[in-house]
Amino acid sequence: MSIHPERKDITCKKCEALFVIFKKDFNCPNCGRLIPNNPKINMDFIPDTIGAMLYHKKRYGNYRPDGWYIGSMTEHLMGFAFDAFDLIENKNPKNPKKYLKNWVNKVVKIRNKKEKYLIKHVEDVILEMLKIYQDSGFEKYLENKYPDRINNEIKLTLWDKIKKRFFFKIPMP
Ligand SMILES: [Zn+2]
Repeated sequence: MSIHPERKDITCKKCEALFVIFKKDFNCPNCGRLIPNNPKINMDFIPDTIGAMLYHKKRYGNYRPDGWYIGSMTEHLMGFAFDAFDLIENKNPKNPKKYLKNWVNKVVKIRNKKEKYLIKHVEDVILEMLKIYQDSGFEKYLENKYPDRINNEIKLTLWDKIKKRFFFKIPMP
């Protein structure tokens, strides 16, 4: 099972842009309006995402699990984050920050001018995560977020072992 967040996407009351809040004193990435009454749960977006991706990695071998249902902006952003860090580990670029910036600009597809802010928004989230990734404390997020899962669920089932052994991994687009 992959880990999905419980929080809802935030909609800006002024410009109606959809986004996730990932730090205190957050401004709408589209119109710049300061989002008031930012609830504490929003501050956990990055710790939750890192916890989930570390869990997936332990369980399935990649930060992105085989099936990742996207029904919200939050899940969309998490999906980009999983791919970004799988890429970093597979390609091992000399300058991860530059590499990820270029990558985000290539893979975030927008449908119209109104969605232009999304490219920068995804970039901001991923670069914020990169700072933590380059810190030695990255791994601790699994234990902090999902202590019970580490002990109980990470034992691979027989089926998982068979899948790991015989199926080729599908390359990312
Ligand atoms: Zn706005």
